[in-house]
Amino acid sequence: MKDIKEISIREGIIKRAFDYEDSDADLIITYKYFEEKFKDLYQSYADIFCLDNCVFYISEDYYRCNAFAGKIEDYNIIGITNGYPILMKNKFDDKYFSNIICIGFINEQSISDAYVDLYEDQNFKFDEFMLNCSIQYTFSHEFQHILQFNSFKISKNFLYSENLDKNGFSLKKHAREFDADRMASFEVLKYTFSVYSSLNDKNNEKFKCMLYIALASIVITKNLFYFGLTNPIDSECTIDKQDFYIKQYSHPHPLVRIYSMLEYFYVNIKNDFPELNIDPQEILNNVVGISKIYFDNIIPNQNIMQNFFESSKKFINEINCYNQELYNVAIKDKYIKALLKKRGIKF
Ligand SMILES: [Zn+2]
Repeated sequence: MKDIKEISIREGIIKRAFDYEDSDADLIITYKYFEEKFKDLYQSYADIFCLDNCVFYISEDYYRCNAFAGKIEDYNIIGITNGYPILMKNKFDDKYFSNIICIGFINEQSISDAYVDLYEDQNFKFDEFMLNCSIQYTFSHEFQHILQFNSFKISKNFLYSENLDKNGFSLKKHAREFDADRMASFEVLKYTFSVYSSLNDKNNEKFKCMLYIALASIVITKNLFYFGLTNPIDSECTIDKQDFYIKQYSHPHPLVRIYSMLEYFYVNIKNDFPELNIDPQEILNNVVGISKIYFDNIIPNQNIMQNFFESSKKFINEINCYNQELYNVAIKDKYIKALLKKRGIKF
């Protein structure tokens, strides 16, 4: 892993690297936590995929929570803005998960008991697990872009930002975002299994609960963007909901993305863990339930998940059709196809 300060890149393409050493002590802890998480993940994935010249850095952009990936002069660059750790640290604070155990009420006894067991397990922390799932999702999404760039063998310098660019629509680009989201949701599933494997007491119900929490973490992360709750310095949580669209802008609409990840997560659990007999309705009830508890804590009286459901109901046919179209475009894209084969993924 190379440090951004050690390499010389022409200025203009990358934003100024952020040096957090002069920040307040608690901010330094937060920045260090995120930097180490991202660097460790990047190092281990770079080893698995035999990638050299990997660079991770935090860029200076206080007002935006954003992640990006790029290929610049042979360097594989992944970064986050300095607004990202602040926002995520605040939004995944344990105070928002204090009553998460209420999710047990909508479940049968064995699942409800498993949530209690997890809650009481000294080695398992809900807020930390959710934050780590969110980081795993963001990292894996960016890493898939890095693999895509290396697969195209692009010659020019390239930086993909996850900020919504209102002029940047291309069906191919949407298909690549679709691919990056699905791989990221798959990596969150793998991460969940690795955390589950490290628990002392294991049973299928506990694993199911962890899968619901992990998926809820992705859904919460995407909903923070959908409802415009991503300004790191807005403590009021002003809602700025993204209007629905299909073939526009640089990224698919958050609702389109949420439903493609829900579906892919479910398909992979069904294939890889058939013994769980996972029920899609139970997944949805739990994921929505956990997200509702979370958003009711973060913005009381706004009924974010009700709003999410109403929009989902209104646009579900368009969402499903468009995801099918993106799937068809993705599997016809020779670069994406090559990557899926390389990962041994059936499609
Ligand atoms: Zn992306």
